[in-house]
Amino acid sequence: MPAIWYTALINRIESATPRVRRIWLTLPEDAPDFSFQAGQFVTMDLPIGEKRLQRWRSYSIASAPDGGREIELCIVHMPGGLASEYLFTRIEVGTVIKFKGPDGAFVLPEKIDQDLIMVCTGTGVAPFRSMLLNLDQGNWPDRNIHLIYGSRTREDLLYAEEFLDLTARRPNFQYTATLSRIEEHPKEPWIKKGYVHSGYEELYSEPVADRKFLLCGWTNMIDTAVEKLLVGMGYRRDQVGYELYG
Ligand SMILES: Cc1cc2nc3c(=O)[nH]c(=O)nc-3n(C[C@H](O)[C@H](O)[C@H](O)COP(=O)(O)OP(=O)(O)OC[C@H]3O[C@@H](n4cnc5c(N)ncnc54)[C@H](O)[C@@H]3O)c2cc1C
Repeated sequence: MPAIWYTALINRIESATPRVRRIWLTLPEDAPDFSFQAGQFVTMDLPIGEKRLQRWRSYSIASAPDGGREIELCIVHMPGGLASEYLFTRIEVGTVIKFKGPDGAFVLPEKIDQDLIMVCTGTGVAPFRSMLLNLDQGNWPDRNIHLIYGSRTREDLLYAEEFLDLTARRPNFQYTATLSRIEEHPKEPWIKKGYVHSGYEELYSEPVADRKFLLCGWTNMIDTAVEKLLVGMGYRRDQVGYELYG
């Protein structure tokens, strides 16, 4: 089936951290139906190149699938990166964005009958935020969910208040932020000093059968995590799923 291209308007832009922007897109009322599953992404056609493939960039949807006409994206600024430069310097409320989608199979299992360990860095949190909102608004599972989020400092953390609120309301949800550039003994019990891998390596060193890891982020993090989980820790291939940003 040919892809449907949607024309949406940017209706809100917020700085989430010094390097990350939250961007909300709204579809016009007469747009074709846009429904998605939590964890999926859209692909934008941005005015940053001549050829189609130079212009296309994918972004995970960070908001929950609520049947509405608005979606939220969460985008990191990469110095010298064409799309992120465009999205940080050349858009404003009212800018028209063309995108296709939703695409992607990085979604929650139909039945959550395993503990889920979500591991991400930076804006790799976007699909997990969508999944967690979706579960929170619908059927929250009985199994444990642990979000392990790697960043450099406290000010880089995205959606921290929401995740802390979720830990207060959902006893089987755990949130750990692993920060690489902070003091040795952080006062907050949910913060650990170190890289994202330190958040799961010790805790889940025993490879039990009913546990699934979902990873999202850039090559270095994903490659290291996959190797640690499969080779180092002995998890099965089907216990590790990932979304690679680049
Ligand atoms: C399925 C999927 C979902 C994604 N979801 C998200 C998301 O939710 N949020 C998000 O932030 N990203 C997401 N990404 C990544 C996103 O698609 C882009 O790859 C990202 O925004 C970088 O694009 P860019 O055009 O800014 O960088 P590019 O121009 O593609 O450059 C890529 C890299 O090369 C470097 N570079 C570029 N030009 C130069 C130069 N002249 N000299 C030196 N270095 C250079 C850039 O710094 C950057 O690190 C996703 C990717 C995929 C595949």
